[in-house]
Amino acid sequence: MHNSSLSSSLSSAGAASIPELRDELRGRVIEPGDAGYDDARTVFQGGIDRRPAAIVRAADAADVSRVVSLARETGLELAVRSGGHSAAGHSVSHGGIVLDLRDMRTLAIDLENRTAWADTGLTAGEYTAAAATCGLATGFGDTGSVGIGGITLGGGIGLLVRKHGLTIDDLLAAELVTADGRILHVDAENHPDLFWAIRGGGGNFGVATRFHLRLHELDRVFGGMLFLPATPEVVAGFVAEAEAAPDELSAIANVMPAPPLPFLPQERHGELVMMATLAYAGRPEAGERAVAPLRALAEPIADMLRPMSYPEVFTPEQEGFHPISAVRTMFVDGVDRPAAGTIVEHLRASTAPMAVAQLRVLGGAMARVPAEATAFAHRGARVMANVVALYERPEDRAAQEAWVTGFAAALSGEGAYVNFLGDDQQARVREAYPGPTWDRLAAIKARHDPGNLFQLNQNIPPAMKRR
Ligand SMILES: Cc1cc2nc3c(=O)[nH]c(=O)nc-3n(C[C@H](O)[C@H](O)[C@H](O)COP(=O)(O)OP(=O)(O)OC[C@H]3O[C@@H](n4cnc5c(N)ncnc54)[C@H](O)[C@@H]3O)c2cc1C
Repeated sequence: MHNSSLSSSLSSAGAASIPELRDELRGRVIEPGDAGYDDARTVFQGGIDRRPAAIVRAADAADVSRVVSLARETGLELAVRSGGHSAAGHSVSHGGIVLDLRDMRTLAIDLENRTAWADTGLTAGEYTAAAATCGLATGFGDTGSVGIGGITLGGGIGLLVRKHGLTIDDLLAAELVTADGRILHVDAENHPDLFWAIRGGGGNFGVATRFHLRLHELDRVFGGMLFLPATPEVVAGFVAEAEAAPDELSAIANVMPAPPLPFLPQERHGELVMMATLAYAGRPEAGERAVAPLRALAEPIADMLRPMSYPEVFTPEQEGFHPISAVRTMFVDGVDRPAAGTIVEHLRASTAPMAVAQLRVLGGAMARVPAEATAFAHRGARVMANVVALYERPEDRAAQEAWVTGFAAALSGEGAYVNFLGDDQQARVREAYPGPTWDRLAAIKARHDPGNLFQLNQNIPPAMKRR
């Protein structure tokens, strides 16, 4: 339902009035015209200008349950927001309700058992910084501002992936508000079908209000950024060496034009480079040995690798940066010299203000979990490739979408990582869930959300009942 006012929807559904709703909730209700409305409806992805009828900044699971029930009763579209980084803009609705979890940010670390209960309004950066003060870490992604809600429910591929697996491999339990408004404790013993589904199935099964996560001892890492010239030999060599490295080393390589960063020589700005982010989760001397073959691929343009605290590895961010992106995600079976040539060629031909081919070397602990153990089934994938065009003018959309489509086709990858799907990718959601995964997810969806209340996401529609 679009462009309806919340008040009229509430009254026609016989639900509470806005003042009543405000009284019932511990959290805040922000409506059009209220101070902070525009800020509250802004998401990371640029070019999205949706006006929700209300944004509810929930304070606790009871608030979440109330809002879920309200959406069910009124038929208003429900958007669920943790960090707001969905590339598809799924965390803001036009005319519906945004259930914003950002005021729910308690983190309780259990030092003895090395676990944490974390509210899903926390960002990966906030969680990681707090855990690091205890010499502990859970792996999320490479960017601190991403919400732990979205990244965890989709899988979570970051800089500890080869050492400790996906974020979901450290998920021990969750508190989940289901479509009927119940607040469930979900783990291997309680509601095991839901526990399986939320480990990779995204926001389809309910609103996760808290995660119980395993922490690993991690004092320092050896890592940071390494800039190399992006020749096909270097790109292919990097992937091969990173695959051969010990599991302690996780690597993300961004092949892209050199940004105008102060530590890069000015004459190299705009030149195609490989900006790699590395983290070796082990002793610094061993880390130094592990990265030696990568450093030796070519004369580095900038070498910033050193022992550092784990939160320092996160990619530096720019306040207020809201690029529009065209993105394609896939898994590839390594990157040989011809594939690296294809990557370089396509990036050279880009007309976007910024174009990136991101290569994430997988394997290690992630690959040791059986494909059927969670809803993330691409366990054997060797490399994730994401091709991205970042641009500013909405009218460039067709050209940039065509460029990423052509680039992706040339790489002939397969499968998809749900957390990197864009807004026109619904047809590709199935590729995120290969083999029997899709059918199992659709059956669980039919059991727990038969009306598809949670549909503003990379949607898995409920399986149809057989007659
Ligand atoms: C700059 C950038 C860097 C990234 N880096 C990585 C990376 O290194 N590794 C990686 O794996 N991914 C990465 N991602 C992808 C990221 O994991 C997804 O975009 C993720 O969905 C973002 O989570 P969020 O909570 O910030 O997003 P939101 O936009 O708030 O949510 C995304 C989706 O998840 C649902 N959702 C969110 N929270 C909940 C919840 N608590 N309960 C139920 N449903 C919920 C939303 O409804 C929505 O459909 C990156 C994205 C960006 C933009």
